[in-house]
Parts: sequence; C-alpha cells; structure tokens
Amino acid sequence: MNNDPRSKPGVVLNAQKRTRTSTGFYSHQHLKLARLPIPPSGPRILRRGSESIPTPRRVSRLAGDPYHGAMPDSNVETGFQTTGPDGSEDAGVLRLNEIFHSIQGESTRAGEPCVFIRLAGCHLRCSWCDTEYAFREGRRRPVAEILEEVLAIDCGLVEITGGEPLLQKTVHVLERALLDAGRTVMFETSGACDITACDPRSEIIMDLKPPSSGECDRNLDSNIEALRPHHEVKFVIGDRNDFDWSIERVRTLALLDRCRAVLFSPVFEQAQGLEIAGASGLPPGRLAEWILASGLPIRMQMQLHKFIWEPTTRGV
Ligand code: SF4
Repeated sequence: MNNDPRSKPGVVLNAQKRTRTSTGFYSHQHLKLARLPIPPSGPRILRRGSESIPTPRRVSRLAGDPYHGAMPDSNVETGFQTTGPDGSEDAGVLRLNEIFHSIQGESTRAGEPCVFIRLAGCHLRCSWCDTEYAFREGRRRPVAEILEEVLAIDCGLVEITGGEPLLQKTVHVLERALLDAGRTVMFETSGACDITACDPRSEIIMDLKPPSSGECDRNLDSNIEALRPHHEVKFVIGDRNDFDWSIERVRTLALLDRCRAVLFSPVFEQAQGLEIAGASGLPPGRLAEWILASGLPIRMQMQLHKFIWEPTTRGV
C-alpha cells in the first residue's frame, strides 16, 4: 500500500524548503498538508496581458501560504507599497511575492544553490519581462518572519530579487540582517533604482536596459559610479541593435574595469505557443558569434534554471 501523501488525489504539500524529484518538488522541512481541488492540467503558460494557467506547484504554494493575497487595486500600476494601511511608514514589513530554494541561474554564481526572496512590485514594464506575476501578487510580511524562514534553509547564498527589490526601502533592514547572519547577499536590480542604498557587502547584479526593453531611458546614470569590483552588470539582448548599444555602453563606461563581470544574456526563446507577446527571443548562437567578433571579454550567460526546469516554471 502506498502511504505517500503525494499519491493521494487532491493532497498537496506546502513547505519552505523544496527538493526536486522526478515528478516535482516536495518538502523536507515544515511539512503541512492541505487538501485542495486537483488543479487543471495543461501547459504552463505565462503570457503578457493574460493570467497564467495555474500549475500544481503554483496552486500548492499560493493556496498554502496564509500571507498570499491580491494586491490592492491602488497598487496595480506600481505594484508595491512601503507604508502601512494607515499610510504611515512601516519599517518592519515587506511586500513579498515568494521565497524559494533553487539553483542560481544567472551571474558568475550560476549553478550555486541559492535562496531567492522575490519582492512584489516593479515600476518598469520591460517588453520581455518573465516575472510579471511579481508586479501584483504579494502580501505584506514582517521582516523578522522572512528572515526566520530564510535562515531556516541551510544555504549560504541569498538573492533578493523581484519585481524590483530596491523599491521597498525596508529591504535594507532584511539585507543587513542576512549579512550579519553570515549569508552572502545578492541583489538583482533593474538599474533604475539607486544602488548606493545597499550595504557595501552585498553583491549587486545590475541591469542596463537596452532599447528593445522599452525602458532604456530609465537607466540611472548615477549608478555607474557606484559600481564596485564585486558587482556585475547585465544586458539582456533582444536584437542586433541592443547588442551594438550594449557594446557601446561597455566601452564608453569602462564597465569591464569597474566590476567583476559584464553579462550578456539573450532574450529567451520560448517554445511555440509560450511566447511572451511583443518580445521575440534571440538565438543564443547568434549572440555568441557577436560576442566573439567583438573581441571583448563579455561573459555570455543563459538562464540556467530555464534549462533545468520548464522555462515558465515559477519558484525555481
Ligand atoms: S525590471 Fe525586471 S521585473 Fe521589472 S519589468 Fe523589467 S524584467 Fe520585469
């Protein structure tokens, strides 16, 4: 007789730490059982302008999370808030989208186990954004609770991402606490927020948005002087025009001298039917040829997690 709860219809697991099996992710810590309707089957699709189709894993995470809830309509445009319900500043709370334990898919730390803290909200709308769900989905949670949940996971590397993680100033309370606890902290930021607010110990992976993103004019020039040798700059390249623009930025801003690495990543080519509307992928081989021809020590990166798991899978 099979006593594994995973084998029972409608039973899903919710937990803070997940481990992958051949059929999905199951917890080894803080197991909680919840009986839920069996979610609809079907492809995992995330399209701009439409709701994603819930997957079994997504239903598990959201339905089991007492802190999950829709963002108030007033926050739909920006998708974030840093004040309490009465409008006062609340330094002890962050609007959180999700926490998950996975493999780092980007940067020079690609391949390393990493805990991800995804904060809700972003004030940009990049054409090829693959985390639109973080714009609106989130719930206010005390920093102390987030800290406790993250430190319970035996992993030395923590990335704070979004959305745009630097929109909420309280993030620096969490950042310092994680650093003081001995964690290596990374930020994945759009480059449209001031990075000088970050603790000098943190590693910052900062985007510079090329033209095809539609957000090129939001790059904050003052951030360039704030780059440090343990930081990295990332360009997501959608076409040849993006590439030429990015190479020109690398040269004129001396980015290779300022930071640990300059990363070029192709806009991910989605399988037919899973495309992000309005954004077409760039074949990686084409980007590789361009980089080689440039003669610059650019580091090409693929989003590793999109090869380990299905490209539109969340929480990985
Ligand atoms: S900055 Fe990041 S989260 Fe915001 S729209 Fe662009 S890709 Fe999406």
